[in-house]
Amino acid sequence: MTNRRLSALLLAAVLLILLVSTALLAAAHTDHDCAVADCPVCQTLAAAVCTLKLLLAATLPAVLAAARAARCRTADALVPAAVPRTPVRLKVKLSN
Ligand SMILES: [Zn+2]
Repeated sequence: MTNRRLSALLLAAVLLILLVSTALLAAAHTDHDCAVADCPVCQTLAAAVCTLKLLLAATLPAVLAAARAARCRTADALVPAAVPRTPVRLKVKLSN
């Protein structure tokens, strides 16, 4: 595995852990009833929401590019089925 792939894999793992932990934190405090002005739970939830928004803004172009690449790959896979398989296209030598 190359260094670029390993770095991408580590970055994706860190982003996934951050996303899951932030979502779990928000889910754990869904029924939070706040009575204090400077509540640490509310501040943490606000930071979590801000983190999720930043992650969405940072990863949305990459997700869209990956979806577009997958759609192009699927279209490329479908094109050979539409092209007729002639001996010329298959480069078959007809020497008889
Ligand atoms: Zn609170």
